[in-house]
Amino acid sequence: MAKSLISVNLQKKLRSAAKILETDPSFVSFPEFNNLSSTDAIIQNCIWPKLESIGIYNDDESDSLLTDSDFNDSDLLDALTKSFGSDSPAIKIVRARRIVSILRGQDGPMEVAADKEILTTEAIIDHIKNTRPYGQWKDDELITEYGQDCDSEIVNILIKRSGGRPFVVYIDEEVGVIDVEETVKILKIARHRETPDMFRVNGKMVRLYRAGDFPTLIYNECPIHNGILLFEGYCDKCGNIWDNVGDEGRHFVRVLADSDEELPSDAIGRKQLIELAEEGIEKLGEVYPRVKMEFDDLKKEDNLPSLKSRTTTANGVSYRRDPFMPSISSKSY
Ligand SMILES: [Zn+2]
Repeated sequence: MAKSLISVNLQKKLRSAAKILETDPSFVSFPEFNNLSSTDAIIQNCIWPKLESIGIYNDDESDSLLTDSDFNDSDLLDALTKSFGSDSPAIKIVRARRIVSILRGQDGPMEVAADKEILTTEAIIDHIKNTRPYGQWKDDELITEYGQDCDSEIVNILIKRSGGRPFVVYIDEEVGVIDVEETVKILKIARHRETPDMFRVNGKMVRLYRAGDFPTLIYNECPIHNGILLFEGYCDKCGNIWDNVGDEGRHFVRVLADSDEELPSDAIGRKQLIELAEEGIEKLGEVYPRVKMEFDDLKKEDNLPSLKSRTTTANGVSYRRDPFMPSISSKSY
């Protein structure tokens, strides 16, 4: 996203919206949440993820969409009251309504009048800050913007500043949430000397990532379909849900699929197979005794087929948006 496209007007509205949340600690569904210590943090962690989920980005076009008379308030309200995990808690409905009116540009004059001077100044500072070249950004500013979807220049500058050494710490690797504070600290070290691959943060050993390297995601494959990744237990190819089949059952079905025995070719037959697998390998063994023998041998040799795939998401492609996409580039290990 080009920084010059940032909507000053939307920024202003976001600040007013964030202030509402700032003044009342019970505005979100997780009051113990501690990642909302400043206006910026509230905007970044609590409001942006929700706006982006419905396609509102930091640009003037999004701002004009919001103020369009055709815009559906309830889409925005739904998004705001949804929780995006503990890092982006749900906003309670009455507060969310207030934020909707602010973002829609329909809010009453009260808060805006009181904050007008400050908001204008802040917006100007924001604008100046955001149109500076990335090379002039401070470490924490770059790291806050850094991620799989960020401008490649940010990645390049961070590679340069870190000397290509590992320094990025994730709070949650799966959703790509970075521990900005720790990452800034370790980047200071990485500027001058080697950093390890593992590092102790708050008493826990965590992996350090180089700029440009993102956490690897591990997917389960469909037992029937080699190389097809399950999304929340579901296989898009056979339309089956494998959630209730244990590891052994899944391995058994894979051994079966790899063997000479015929797999049921119709949906009903496959459903029966899965029900059997849900009951465990003993039941499967009764129906497929030869496969059971092969399974037992492979298990003894510790040679059961792997049903895991490691996949790194491609830059700019979210695995949540397109869960089956990674199967193209996945490799078994
Ligand atoms: Zn399948």
